[in-house]
Amino acid sequence: MTEVLKRVKEGIEVTGVGDEYYEFLRYPKVQMTVSIPVKMRDGKIRTFLGYRVQHNNARGPYKGGIRYYPTTDLDEVTALAMLMTYKCAVVDLPYGGAKGGVQCNPKELTRDELERITRRYTYMIADIIGPYKDIPAPDVYTDAQVMAWLMDTYSQIVGKLTPEVVTGKPVPLGGSEGREEATGLGVAIGAREAVKALNLGMKGIRVAVEGFGNVGSYAALYLHNWGAKVVAASDSKGGIYNPEGLNVPALIEHKKRTGAVLGFNGSKTISHEELLHLDVDVLIPSAIEGTINAKTVGGIRARVISEGANGPTTADADKVLREKGIFVVPDILANAGGVTVSYFEWVQNLKREKWPKEEVVSKMETKLVKAFHDVLGTSRRYEVDTRSAAFCLSVERVCESVKLLGIWP
Ligand code: GLU
Repeated sequence: MTEVLKRVKEGIEVTGVGDEYYEFLRYPKVQMTVSIPVKMRDGKIRTFLGYRVQHNNARGPYKGGIRYYPTTDLDEVTALAMLMTYKCAVVDLPYGGAKGGVQCNPKELTRDELERITRRYTYMIADIIGPYKDIPAPDVYTDAQVMAWLMDTYSQIVGKLTPEVVTGKPVPLGGSEGREEATGLGVAIGAREAVKALNLGMKGIRVAVEGFGNVGSYAALYLHNWGAKVVAASDSKGGIYNPEGLNVPALIEHKKRTGAVLGFNGSKTISHEELLHLDVDVLIPSAIEGTINAKTVGGIRARVISEGANGPTTADADKVLREKGIFVVPDILANAGGVTVSYFEWVQNLKREKWPKEEVVSKMETKLVKAFHDVLGTSRRYEVDTRSAAFCLSVERVCESVKLLGIWP
């Protein structure tokens, strides 16, 4: 959490919005911890811990995903809720920031157990979520099916079908076309705009992707389709490398079939650290927090980093990236494609409309490219790096709304 707070503090100082706003934004408005008893496949009861943290809603209803992860705790969810406030503000969405999580390992749970966890968790947080209050979405190890269970449980509690309470749903249940690939596409757009800003072309540009999950695989696919050469990819089981470039669509198939990138045709196995240190043009960290840290940052050779994960770079590593002159597209900008399409999904649900995929994708692209240039403009205005600029811009926007609302009661 301290990592995010440091950046917010800097944003407040640089922009001069007023020192008192640091205290104001330092604490989330609501932190909820719930216990989730679940009957497991062997008939025994296991109790999981769940969280929903609502950081700030000055710009609109709280918004943010729910992650299912073995080490998730209140501190992590709080930091991620804060990041959502600033992420939504950078892309200028009318949302505040929230995050949720359940401390569990979905890889060891059956589908039925996951469903029971999801329904009980939803029941426990039902009072504080809602279409105009707080709208959850997928995050690490949660998907459209989990969102469908959440929507159904909530709808049954309030007694009416309420698709607009959650985004990232399956398309037949009111999910948006393009939501599944949205975050990865946004990360690819971030990389592409940075490459452009450095006056480089996309053709043959070498890319390494750390974390070949939903975000990383789609980012790789789009970059591959635009002519880049994706030379390395990794997931929780290990990494692979092929200097000639990986066939990304075939790698996605391989991962679907085997559950890992390892063993892909014509590739050599490499470690996570080796992947981060490859001589590439673009590095896409899209796994979890803190993988670019004091230990790993020294060997990084990429010219552009587009951050698919939330918080992949620690503050001390960030300083080194700055000294090295690496162009960083910070997480709150680079991975905002997901929440942007979530917003479009919510708008479609509220208006009972269904937009074609091309419309969703082109609207998202417009928003992200505008945000990219807003951040570059802010970086020039305050003479700061791109990450600080993203925070300056979003802190300014959040504080503007906070000031206009005033304090009541
Ligand atoms: N979990 C995603 C994120 O961190 C998406 C959130 C959303 O769509 O609300 O941005």
